Amino acid sequence: MDWKTALPELVTQPKTKLRLGESLAKHTHFGIGGEASAFLEISSVDELIELAEFQQKWNIPVAIIGRGSNLLVSDNGFDGICVKLINDLAKLVIQGNQVLVGAGLSLPHLSKTMSRNGLSGLEFALGIPGAVGGALIMNAGAWGSSFGDLVSDVTVMYDTGEITKLARHEAGFEYRRSGLDKYFCIIEASLTLESGDVDTITEKMQKLFKQKTDTQPFVEENAGCMFKNPAGDSAGRLIDSCGLKGHRIGGAEVSTIHGNFILNVDNSTAQDVLDLVAYIQKEVREKTGIYLHTEVKKLGFDE
Ligand SMILES: Cc1cc2nc3c(=O)[nH]c(=O)nc-3n(C[C@H](O)[C@H](O)[C@H](O)COP(=O)(O)OP(=O)(O)OC[C@H]3O[C@@H](n4cnc5c(N)ncnc54)[C@H](O)[C@@H]3O)c2cc1C
Repeated sequence: MDWKTALPELVTQPKTKLRLGESLAKHTHFGIGGEASAFLEISSVDELIELAEFQQKWNIPVAIIGRGSNLLVSDNGFDGICVKLINDLAKLVIQGNQVLVGAGLSLPHLSKTMSRNGLSGLEFALGIPGAVGGALIMNAGAWGSSFGDLVSDVTVMYDTGEITKLARHEAGFEYRRSGLDKYFCIIEASLTLESGDVDTITEKMQKLFKQKTDTQPFVEENAGCMFKNPAGDSAGRLIDSCGLKGHRIGGAEVSTIHGNFILNVDNSTAQDVLDLVAYIQKEVREKTGIYLHTEVKKLGFDE
């Protein structure tokens, strides 16, 4: 028996879904990427433990993803199990200003729910189309606020299935990164928000969302900012100053609205995006001496 034949062992809860040969383009904001050998929607911690045991037994790659809004998937897809967290793993429990959030919960949904409950801190997150797990891994943020600032603790799973709770200082939050990507799965986090006035919070959230969508592409297929801002400067400004807005390779194009966004304008392949990234890095380095590091995570590539 091989691991694919054994996969149905993992489907022990009615809401869990298993699909073979699932297109990952459907699960990324870029709309790019080949197939995952298997795609699982998992709804409970018990199933996650079974998945960890399955991975150990068969020694196959497993990738937990959120909303795929910071992800470039290879044109060859991912030869392993790609996992999305749902139901119990996307829970939301509010107790006063303490909020327990499952890693699978949508960030815009969380932002809106917090504003309706008069809880401040997540107003910046309405325009970030990820899930909580991805926001923790990336320490997602905008307008000077970052998700990690709100975290009291994070519950993670090792690939042995063992679960542990990390205090915020153990999560390694830095600018658009964290130390959490070394764990098998981020399960949930406790957040501490500030009580405030519903109307004031809602107004701020809507203002930030409008500011974002006025200055950045939002509905087009993309993966958010392609590059991290170098210290004291902005990647978008550097790309713009090198005259790269609108530059196109294959179906991938540098946004004309904001230089730090690469858009899938015409059935782009992952290779088109990588070629455009390499071209931008070369041009910006030659013209400004600055090397731009990518912010977007890759899945299914060799390195
Ligand atoms: C239009 C647009 C606007 C954006 N604006 C912003 C912005 O203003 N600020 C900002 O910071 N980002 C922004 N982003 C990028 C992106 O939305 C964030 O980085 C977001 O937090 C990623 O969440 P996700 O759930 O989509 O993660 P994914 O892209 O699905 O995954 C990101 C990484 O985390 C891993 N991962 C995800 N969940 C788990 C888990 N539970 N356990 C273990 N590993 C996990 C994945 O394997 C992958 O390596 C934007 C993206 C788009 C498309």
